[in-house]
Amino acid sequence: MKAVLFHEFGGLDVLQVEEVDDPQPAAGEVVIDITASALNHLDVDIREGISRFDVRPPFILGVEVVGRIAAVGEGVTGWKVGDRVMPYLMDTCGECRYCRTGRESLCLTPGFISFTTTGGYAEQIACSARHLIRIPDALSDEAAAATQIAFGTAWHMLFTRARLQPGESLLINCVGSGIGSAALQLAKLSGAFVIGTASTEDKLTRAKELGLDVAVNYREQDVPTEVMRATDGRGVDVVYEHVGGEFFQMGLDSLTKDGRLVICGGHSGEIVPFDIIPFFRTQKQVIGSFVYNRAEVETVLDLAARGLVTPLVYKVFPLEQARDAMETMERREQFGKIVLKPGAAT
Ligand SMILES: [Zn+2]
Repeated sequence: MKAVLFHEFGGLDVLQVEEVDDPQPAAGEVVIDITASALNHLDVDIREGISRFDVRPPFILGVEVVGRIAAVGEGVTGWKVGDRVMPYLMDTCGECRYCRTGRESLCLTPGFISFTTTGGYAEQIACSARHLIRIPDALSDEAAAATQIAFGTAWHMLFTRARLQPGESLLINCVGSGIGSAALQLAKLSGAFVIGTASTEDKLTRAKELGLDVAVNYREQDVPTEVMRATDGRGVDVVYEHVGGEFFQMGLDSLTKDGRLVICGGHSGEIVPFDIIPFFRTQKQVIGSFVYNRAEVETVLDLAARGLVTPLVYKVFPLEQARDAMETMERREQFGKIVLKPGAAT
């Protein structure tokens, strides 16, 4: 099969399109013909060797995969060739205390697509049948590929971790990103008042079309000041943070007393200063969030299939143009997800 690999960590030019052996299904596994594979910023960190995961090249990137089952391994039941599926991002044990209590992203022996399997920047992938998720007929392959990580992460952060309630106010940092725009749609669906930040008027306009109540351009405006102006000086109940660096402090400064900041990423700075005194005197909470569980993915796929949320596909690239696709993502110009499509005309 054709796959995009890197043999050493580095920039875009380490990516190479190569012929590799077709995967075979081991017992309990299926092989999937990949029809769409979404890019994520994690892919850049992995390629550059700064992901803090144990990655050893040669490596095929890609954690978000959609396709049709091409072969079924020994002992697999409930799935047949031709079924349209996506693997849950994580390969979890199903038996530890976290898996047994619906918190499988905290599994004691976690595996991940592309780490414990090959990756999605390829024509095929072999993966465990235990974690497959069926894709509703109403969703295209590209839309499904744009759903799992963006909407699964947003659901887990907003509702499971931060427990966002109807009518509460919410600040979404970088609302034009994949998980930002997904959070916006889910928050509006739940009846929240949403303030969002972005670096360009274009992204803010797109976000307003998705229901954003108050738009803040963080390059031109002071975020906490604008949040206070929009909330009668109180601050928001919840901050949705996935950026890190100075955005973390801006988020804390935008919270109301007893407010919750939920965070799942730190691309703009992983180590940040933290002033303890105002934090406890205003009784704020900082809540970590990691991935999502499989049931949450099924929930958001169902919402997308019913048209209640819209997975956003910014651009589709043929597999062979993975370098161009990653470059587009690294310029951060997109609104929504970038998807690779094996077999598309180059
Ligand atoms: Zn487990």
